[in-house]
Amino acid sequence: MKIALFGPPGAGKGTQARFIEDEFGIPQISTGDLLREHVRKDTPLGREAKRYMDRGDLVPDELVIDILKERISRDDCVKGFILDGFPRSLEQAKALSDAVDLDAVINIVVDENLLVRRITGRRMCSCGATYHVEFDPPSREGICDRCGGKLYQRDDDREETVIKRLEVYRKQTEPLTEHYRKLGILHDVDGSRPIEEISKDIISLLKKLGE
Ligand code: ADP
Ligand code: AMP
Repeated sequence: MKIALFGPPGAGKGTQARFIEDEFGIPQISTGDLLREHVRKDTPLGREAKRYMDRGDLVPDELVIDILKERISRDDCVKGFILDGFPRSLEQAKALSDAVDLDAVINIVVDENLLVRRITGRRMCSCGATYHVEFDPPSREGICDRCGGKLYQRDDDREETVIKRLEVYRKQTEPLTEHYRKLGILHDVDGSRPIEEISKDIISLLKKLGE
């Protein structure tokens, strides 16, 4: 099953991807995570990408498309994958459709006011776990429940950059929903509810599609 999770920053794509991974045994592929890995390792691509990420802009298509194509060609993707944060532009959607056919695009719909609160309160662990200071706190403050690692806030999760990222989403990424709606593979899910309610809906939807 090849699916894409769609929605603005903070909609809950990463959070929901974990549940789908566990249920269907297919990997989450987050272009944001892949880019942050390059930044962390200080590769030439990471240094180039960071300039855009720090401003809240999209990283140029050719860089992201290459990373994504390489990732989905690996062995763990033969049964399928969950795209998180890709495609984000028409150019990326075209490159993707030249390479694979998506079975479903899950559009997580959340009101903009809630998004700013979700993103500025997000805390991350290097093991991949995500928490929220208000909505999903770890049992010990600042410490990951899964691995005991120290939690941190992403540089681009501060309020000034968040506003820019939401604007970029509305202008460059949201129009893609119409493209996938016309193809008949877009499914809207109300993402303003509790995490478990949303994941139950998404999983039962994907099971139905797989029947
Ligand atoms: P995205 O991957 O779409 O940018 P995340 O999955 O990282 O978003 O979620 C953003 C923040 O909101 C995280 O801190 C996460 O714990 C929290 N969150 C995600 N889904 C919900 C929800 N349904 N209700 C409350 N908080 C949520
Ligand atoms: P995310 O982790 O999905 O919130 O992405 C963090 C940042 O990485 C974005 O604000 C962009 O700068 C960059 N990024 C991630 N995915 C893409 C993509 N598909 N296209 C362009 N830039 C991306």
